Amino acid sequence: MLLIIVCWRAVAQEPLLSSQQWSLIREEVNGVSPYENLRYLTGLHRVPGTAAFAQAAQFIVERARGYGLDDAHTEQFPIDGVRTYGLMRSYLAWSVQSGQLWELRPHHVLIGDAQTDPIRLADYSHTASVETALIDVGAGTSAHDYEGKNVRGKIVLADGLLSRVQELAVVDHGAAGILSDMPNQTTVWSGLDPTLVRWGHLDARQPTGFAFMISRQAAGTLRARLAAHEEIVLRADVKATVGPGSWAVDTATIKGADPSAGQVVFSCHLDHERPGANDDGSGCVTILEAARALNLLIHSGALVRPKRTIRFIWGPEHEGTMAFLATHSDIMNDLRANVHMDMVGGDLFKNKSVMHVTETPWSLPSFVTDVGAVFLRTIQHGATEYAQGGGSPAEAMVETRIAESGTRNEFFADVTPFDEGSDHDDYDSSTIAVPSLYLRDWPDTYIHTDHDSLEQMDATKLRRVAALGAAAGYVYASLDAPQLPLLLPFFTAQSEARLTASFEKAQKWVMDPGMAADVAWYEANNLLVHSLQRERDTLHSLVLFSGGVENSESEGLNALNTQGSAFSLWLARNAKSRGAKAPTSSWANDAGTMRVAVRIAPFGPIQNQNDDALLARLGRERYSKIKLLNGGSGHYVSVLDQRGLYAYEILNFVNGKRSVGEIRDAVSAEYRPIPLELVEDYLESLAEAKIISLN
Ligand SMILES: [Zn+2]
Repeated sequence: MLLIIVCWRAVAQEPLLSSQQWSLIREEVNGVSPYENLRYLTGLHRVPGTAAFAQAAQFIVERARGYGLDDAHTEQFPIDGVRTYGLMRSYLAWSVQSGQLWELRPHHVLIGDAQTDPIRLADYSHTASVETALIDVGAGTSAHDYEGKNVRGKIVLADGLLSRVQELAVVDHGAAGILSDMPNQTTVWSGLDPTLVRWGHLDARQPTGFAFMISRQAAGTLRARLAAHEEIVLRADVKATVGPGSWAVDTATIKGADPSAGQVVFSCHLDHERPGANDDGSGCVTILEAARALNLLIHSGALVRPKRTIRFIWGPEHEGTMAFLATHSDIMNDLRANVHMDMVGGDLFKNKSVMHVTETPWSLPSFVTDVGAVFLRTIQHGATEYAQGGGSPAEAMVETRIAESGTRNEFFADVTPFDEGSDHDDYDSSTIAVPSLYLRDWPDTYIHTDHDSLEQMDATKLRRVAALGAAAGYVYASLDAPQLPLLLPFFTAQSEARLTASFEKAQKWVMDPGMAADVAWYEANNLLVHSLQRERDTLHSLVLFSGGVENSESEGLNALNTQGSAFSLWLARNAKSRGAKAPTSSWANDAGTMRVAVRIAPFGPIQNQNDDALLARLGRERYSKIKLLNGGSGHYVSVLDQRGLYAYEILNFVNGKRSVGEIRDAVSAEYRPIPLELVEDYLESLAEAKIISLN
């Protein structure tokens, strides 16, 4: 049977780019350059503040220069564990010469050698030279694990959180070091392949200790031997020091035509274990490819030079971003939008993954997500048509043009709500407020293991994401007021679709038998009110960004208001059908809920790579009593799974205007209704830590 499929280009990049602009970008980016650049990066164990990280930074900056980018250079930011960048405390550097672990008796075998396989030695291990027995302490993270055991001078075998094992076994009980099979970054796939060796890091602020990492399988064998009363003697030799140093951050630009028009920033994180192909070598080489292609097209005149400067930053996750922005407040104030790539190169079939365009949080409504979504759908459409036998390889963007072939896979990708976990947390946070288009593969079966390697990467995928990022970045950099008449109807339609989705959710809430009828009405209506405001703000963000005249979006706002009114009416009808009399808040309007929260601490979110500002300021005992973070649950929801998101957004909603009650309503609309008590208790702990004040 011969199928002839005519593609009517139902999905295209309009109205953001012309067909010609899109095909120029699509054809210029390739998947081989990033794939080959990744080959180099994956050879380096890229721990911030180490020689190997410096080598990676050197490689990227040389490539950026070679590609003709402007002002490509590396900056060094001093770190000593005390100095702060914004709200974030700096960490420490690590200098490692060697690390070997042998089993001496009864067998003579090499267990790990940092020189040939750096992931085997946990980051921030200290110098040691010991010949000693191995002792099993289970997880090794509670006092109970050490009862009746003498670990002094020995090496403990443990699978609990490494920094906690270090504190208990080494610092408190005098163990020499640790042998660990801690399951770093668990996913639903964790444990399926017991031969993976996971990346481990000790707490650099502890004065002593070393750890070697082994697979679950190897650890299991050792545990069985110890359980059978075998005496296992190991020899560890480590030459490494932890101390002050610096973080290296690369940056380069494509100069915009109008120096006063602001900047668009592309980001990724250059650090992580060797090989760290997807996480996040892939993001680093893919923004580099976007840089190469855009620079070439702009330089040659094929694409008009955009008015905004496009900046690229490669540094340690969170830490490089915070250090760079804190040092360059002029640039921070100049940033208008962010394209962040963290894990974008995985072969989605091998990694059992999906590529996500991730929305900005509700505290920062922005049109930037919809721009990314347009290019995602365009590429996805081309890929699907091709995979099914009817499309063109050009539109599918399969990487078969140069020596290394990419796959012909479909492009499994979607648009998902905000999620935490990378530098976009910094950009999207309220005191930086640069809306981020966050691109990521999730899950990834090999994350933070020795198997996150080039073999799991796909040149076709790299090419597709490079094009997606480059096109979105070019749109942000070029966006101008004259485009608004074409763009506003399009973006209004996107907002209407999202508002509809919120209404569907509100309908479920209003009928939720777990909530009293009047309260359910209040929560459903609260969701609708916040959704409508979010979409109004989204349209406004487009007008503001492009420099359009005030109220350009009024037609769109009217359409949204009309839609919102109908939804509100229908919710009321649903509520009344189950006997509700009036929407009633679950919290009373007492004095506490009227207090207004004001940010007083320096900029940045609370959580960064190696720093938790709230924990550092309050101490562990007080911190452990914060109800929200303990997963305190109320009538409607257990917040345990989403406590990080709630905490992140509660602080973001602090703007000097919202009251405690209003912040509660804002996060309840974004996630699920949450008891006022949890929000109030969290805000009070922030006030105690002098991050905010409550007036
Ligand atoms: Zn990452």
